[in-house]
Amino acid sequence: MEIHFTEKEEAILKKISAAAEQLHMPCYLIGGFVRDKILHRATKDADIVCVGDGLKLAKTASLQFHPAPQVNLFKHYGTAHFKLSSGFDIEFVGARKESYQSHSRNPEVMPGTLIDDQNRRDFTINALAISLNKADYGTLIDPFTGLDDIENKIIKTPMDPSQTFSDDPLRMMRAIRFATQLKFTIEENTLNAITKNADRIKIISQERITDELNKIIMSTKPSIGFKLMFETGLLHYIFPQMEALSGAENIDGIGHKDNFYHTLQVLDNVAAKSLDLWLRWAAILHDIGKPATKKFEEEHGWTFHGHEVVGGKMVPKIFNKLKLPLGENMKYVKKLVELHLRPISLSKENITDSAIRRLLFDAGEDIDDLMILCESDITSKNKQKVKRYLENFEHVRERCHEVEEKDRLRNWQPPITGETIMQTFGIGPCRHVGDIKNAIREAILDGHIPNQFEAAFQFMLAKGKERNLKATDKA
Ligand code: ATP
Repeated sequence: MEIHFTEKEEAILKKISAAAEQLHMPCYLIGGFVRDKILHRATKDADIVCVGDGLKLAKTASLQFHPAPQVNLFKHYGTAHFKLSSGFDIEFVGARKESYQSHSRNPEVMPGTLIDDQNRRDFTINALAISLNKADYGTLIDPFTGLDDIENKIIKTPMDPSQTFSDDPLRMMRAIRFATQLKFTIEENTLNAITKNADRIKIISQERITDELNKIIMSTKPSIGFKLMFETGLLHYIFPQMEALSGAENIDGIGHKDNFYHTLQVLDNVAAKSLDLWLRWAAILHDIGKPATKKFEEEHGWTFHGHEVVGGKMVPKIFNKLKLPLGENMKYVKKLVELHLRPISLSKENITDSAIRRLLFDAGEDIDDLMILCESDITSKNKQKVKRYLENFEHVRERCHEVEEKDRLRNWQPPITGETIMQTFGIGPCRHVGDIKNAIREAILDGHIPNQFEAAFQFMLAKGKERNLKATDKA
């Protein structure tokens, strides 16, 4: 197996090799870098394992570069690393042996050989090493036939899978993440061991789980990972609200769609159109309120009234539990969940300017993302229906464009502020201020008055008069 390094990589690796030679310390490239090279994927950082003191090698290797990069030591992990000015990151670790206790994923660590270090790796495809030693520079060292597994697109643990996952349950998420990113299959025993050990995920910190979850979500076809998490039972522990979407009940021969698989289809559709993690989260959560609002009504069959409102309320709670950021990103997802039915309901009626204005006002600068979500939400198998919906959406888009051109409502703030109302009528903060402000906004959105200061000011004076407020001389 010939592995091709770029000229730049070759130059870097030769320097590390020279440093190792100087210290008489065997060293190897290992892990993700080797795997990604074989797969012809882009590589971003490199892991080096040496039989000896990793920090010493890192320091000696750093001096081969001009200027020498600063070496950082991570005592807790026993690793040292430096970043080159090109941004290339190199991490050094002394080869080690690990032994685990059942209550924690922090193993007892002791120095070991290359093979000890390969034994502790999570998957055969991640355990490949390339020698950087003068005698056999560039040789692939593959004790678990990882190369065959890469060729056959298989995720498999080098050791007993159940023990591997029990030792460090994060590896279950990693297995599913790699299967999703690389479109590999998880080997049967390995997959069964995930099912068996799924409940052990509880000992892993939420941040690490969410990190892997987000990597699954950012893959080109995230549904692969969600299906695997669902089938192995992991989803039950890490994201029960999503698991609750699954299943299709049937009463009197009337069923409803399985909202879990529908959501996955929407997520894949969004992923095909956008790389935005938060828009993908909006897809995941758009129907999350459905189980809580599901009813069977004699006249209508299955209904999910208000699921967008209930779903919107669930967003902050889910973000909090998953330790996702609670600021702007959360608000954006909540807004999209709340608004996800609006364009579709619009496209069913004669679209008035005022309905479009309200949509533009409520969605603000996220209108384009909302339209992507809504288009992705059409998962019917009926081609005619899909075609009709998409055409309707095109019409909604055109109408949004027209009204936006005319009224400039994106990121719009009504032309009269509370401050102006208080000054004009010589009043302090009180109920009138909010009421008049709302009335002005509504009048503009309904098209009763134009979106201009003078018209809004006159309207404000009239509203004040109705409330027996007197304009001061300054007005
Ligand atoms: P990516 O960069 O896409 O996340 P990676 O494989 O490089 O992939 P890292 O988390 O950087 O992922 O890990 C580097 C290497 O360390 C892996 O290839 C694997 O050999 C090993 N490794 C990482 N995490 C674990 C783990 N939990 N258990 C065993 N080995 C692991």
